[in-house]
Amino acid sequence: MTTPSTTTALLRGFLRKCPRCGAGALFDGYLKRADACPHCAENFVGVDADDGPAWLTIGVVAHIIVPLLIFLETRGTMSYGAEAALLLSVTTISTLLLLPLCKGFFIAAVWSLSKKSD
Ligand SMILES: [Zn+2]
Repeated sequence: MTTPSTTTALLRGFLRKCPRCGAGALFDGYLKRADACPHCAENFVGVDADDGPAWLTIGVVAHIIVPLLIFLETRGTMSYGAEAALLLSVTTISTLLLLPLCKGFFIAAVWSLSKKSD
């Protein structure tokens, strides 16, 4: 099997699929990276994303929360308790949705870079 382009590998990783074949799952659970692809048997041992996904998720979520906070504060129609509940909910949900996608993206990036150096 040929190695896909970096763009293809990154997209597959973002979708939580094997960056090599795009068919197998990249994760065994919510955030646990699989040791190997169940479809093409590509080995992912040693392909780790470290703190990159967390930093990317924080950056993206901040770009959602800060404008929302400014919007809510300039309107001034909600109580502080309701604003806090809304912002906390949006922060939690968007973080939990984005983190595995960002981790897949980073694992695919590390995997793609390791294939370029082979
Ligand atoms: Zn695969």
